[in-house]
Amino acid sequence: MLAVTKTRRERGVDILERPEPSGPGEGYVLLEVGACGVCGTDLHFYEWVEHAGVEITLPRILGHEVAGTVVECGARVDAVRPGDRVVTETWGGCGRCHLCRLGQFNLCEHQQRLGQAVDGGMTRYVLVPELSLYKVPDAMPFDEAAVVEPAGVALHAFELVEFKPGDSVAVLGPGPIGLLTAMVAGLAGAAQVVVLGLAADAERLEAARRMGCEVISLDEQDAAEATRALTGGYGVDVVFDASGGPGTATLAVDLVRPGGQVVLVGLSPPATFDPSAVVVKEVAIRGAFRRQPVTWLRAIRLVASRRLDVRPLITHRLPVSRATEAFETLLDRRGIKAVLTPD
Ligand SMILES: [Zn+2]
Ligand SMILES: [Zn+2]
Repeated sequence: MLAVTKTRRERGVDILERPEPSGPGEGYVLLEVGACGVCGTDLHFYEWVEHAGVEITLPRILGHEVAGTVVECGARVDAVRPGDRVVTETWGGCGRCHLCRLGQFNLCEHQQRLGQAVDGGMTRYVLVPELSLYKVPDAMPFDEAAVVEPAGVALHAFELVEFKPGDSVAVLGPGPIGLLTAMVAGLAGAAQVVVLGLAADAERLEAARRMGCEVISLDEQDAAEATRALTGGYGVDVVFDASGGPGTATLAVDLVRPGGQVVLVGLSPPATFDPSAVVVKEVAIRGAFRRQPVTWLRAIRLVASRRLDVRPLITHRLPVSRATEAFETLLDRRGIKAVLTPD
């Protein structure tokens, strides 16, 4: 089977013929991939960005935003059956470690993450633990189902803040996670959603504008001033940093109102940061990473019902054999979300 494989600790990927995985072991399921999204993390692996704080063992088939069909179930699997259409968590948690027992499956101590520690879904077949799988409706197209994973990241960020309808929201970074966060903010009843990006993000900022967001170009406007002008002089109630850019946490603290909340979602490189600004504004800052099992259940409902309509985000559908084109296009900030399908 043709697979997008990371083999070298340098820029690029190889499209290689790889053996199909053999039958699933106990607790595991063999999936036939319907679609696999290209994530920001995959772009980090492609570019080989050392800062991102995410680890990968090589050689490795990339891809963790997988939607597909159950082909074969190992022993003791009873939650899914062959023919079921599913989406998969990157690692559903071992269920036994201290953090899983605390209910924080996203922080499991034994991460076997898909497309990082084990082979992922940018190919035809992939092995996944049953615990990671969530069924989706039969009518749900695979490309939309593949976007449930990043939609869950956006939802989880909301699960971690105190948000009330009528609050104002700013989102730094108009990539897929940023735009999904802006869409969730709209669904959740935000009175105002401001999306900030670079001039190079013009196409993505335009998508945000079409969604009804206010848009600020960081290259052309003073972001803090422009945001205050839009929010009665105070700044926004909640800022989500989904940019992955350097120094954006400082900008997020600039944009938030005194007493407001900042959620760091993107994996940004280290940068200097002034803690006093956080103290004197009494800002609450927190990180949000991946999502919880319950987030999947909500994300599937929202995407399947198209209350969270991800179709405008899926700008590129390409076969695995053209993965390099997908990566280069996204790194050029053209398009929004690319989804790969097996050749
Ligand atoms: Zn992802
Ligand atoms: Zn665990």
